[in-house]
Amino acid sequence: MLIIGPPGSGKGTQAARISERLAVVAISTGDIFRDNVKRETPLGLEAKKFMDAGDFVPDSVTNSMVRDRLAAEDVREGFLLDGYPRTAVQVTELDDILRENALDLDVVLQLTADDEELVTRLLGRAQLDGRSDDNERVIRHRLGLYHDQTEAVVSRYEERGIVTKVDGIGSIDEVTERVMAALKVAS
Ligand code: AMP
Repeated sequence: MLIIGPPGSGKGTQAARISERLAVVAISTGDIFRDNVKRETPLGLEAKKFMDAGDFVPDSVTNSMVRDRLAAEDVREGFLLDGYPRTAVQVTELDDILRENALDLDVVLQLTADDEELVTRLLGRAQLDGRSDDNERVIRHRLGLYHDQTEAVVSRYEERGIVTKVDGIGSIDEVTERVMAALKVAS
């Protein structure tokens, strides 16, 4: 499955809980990039300038990273992709990768939240853990990219009838309950 949501919607937190509950691996492109930035790998050095500006890392870089990850054995029993695809090009690439690996998508979970609520949340997070992409100008830019490019990604999956939307406003536990109900996972 995929989890898609605007920055600050809590998709990383919910992805961790879903992956535990369903016993499938969670793969977050944002986490993989941040880990590479921290270790100062060539991929990290390449990605950092885009991340700090709140831009998408180029499709070519992101796609090959996801292609490698989805070739691993641990995704064969199920996987949850968090933060990918975010562009139309990535949707097409993911279709190819899945076909080549004989994998399929069951569900695309979209977390929804209002922009102003997200800005407030992200400014709070910036103070807590000092993410370098969490100042207001960069936050608004990331939200703009979500509206301009990633909502169109959701539309592509809506055409396939596999999108489930969940309201991402509320406490972490409330949102998890809604997610599990929407996924029809017994709690
Ligand atoms: P996230 O933690 O999902 O908000 O991702 C943090 C940052 O990593 C994003 O703002 C982008 O710079 C980069 N990133 C993560 N996933 C992607 C993706 N699918 N395509 C391009 N850039 C990405």
